[in-house]
Amino acid sequence: MFSFPDNYEQGWTLRNEIQKEGIGLHTGIKCNVTIKPTNLPGFHFSFSEEADKVFSIDISQVRNTPLCTTLDINGKKISTVEHLLASLIGVGVTHAHIEITGNEIPLLDGSAICWIAELEKVGMVNSTTAPKPRPELTSPIFVNKGESVIFAQPSKNLKLIGLIDFPYKAIGQQMFSIELSPKNFVNEIAPARTFGFLDQLEELKKAGLIKGGALENALVCDGDSWVNPPLRYSNEPVRHKLLDLIGDLAFVGLPKAQIFVYKGSHSLHTEFAASLQKVLT
Ligand SMILES: [Zn+2]
Repeated sequence: MFSFPDNYEQGWTLRNEIQKEGIGLHTGIKCNVTIKPTNLPGFHFSFSEEADKVFSIDISQVRNTPLCTTLDINGKKISTVEHLLASLIGVGVTHAHIEITGNEIPLLDGSAICWIAELEKVGMVNSTTAPKPRPELTSPIFVNKGESVIFAQPSKNLKLIGLIDFPYKAIGQQMFSIELSPKNFVNEIAPARTFGFLDQLEELKKAGLIKGGALENALVCDGDSWVNPPLRYSNEPVRHKLLDLIGDLAFVGLPKAQIFVYKGSHSLHTEFAASLQKVLT
């Protein structure tokens, strides 16, 4: 049975803590993540070797890498944070403390469903403190990078429209639009896996950048076809792009806006999040 909130209006934290172990995509080393309930509004990280030092996430910590979003927290790196942050904010969690051993969040199957399953097991409770305010637009925001564009206009609810266009037959042009709610996030976005291209993966492997393997945690495309089908949705790639956008929005909160994104990337999302930060301050 569906056990997540109806909307993003209230403050929520976990009922109990979640512990998850997995292999880091980049390092190939086992990493451990503990997600703890907290009444401190927002999302916070700590490292198990210095558990008493807790850092709130902030857009200025983001360092973009070709494959994932990496944070630089007080000189220490945490890679591949986007799917975990998307899972938390997507289901309506507004207060959480993430403690990690190692410097990478496990990619698991490349989607958000493993985190959703854990969240469903422990359940959620209302926080005793109010959530951070969500960005509310008074006028449209526009950010572009080359031909990539993100455009947002004020709206009562959060609506996302994603568009991608790849010169590969297997992907081609895809569009997906959704009115975001915890239920829609879990059913329509969370299962969509990250995707990559066979030639790029081989290069990254040679460069020692993906020691943790890739076929288990990404959909891999060789141009005309998928190396490891079946797909979970015919337009799984564009849905995954929206999953990444939601994860990158965790740094500022889910805006009350209609957002259109063409050829999104972590660097485009991050610049957009920085613009939303200005709306908040
Ligand atoms: Zn992703």
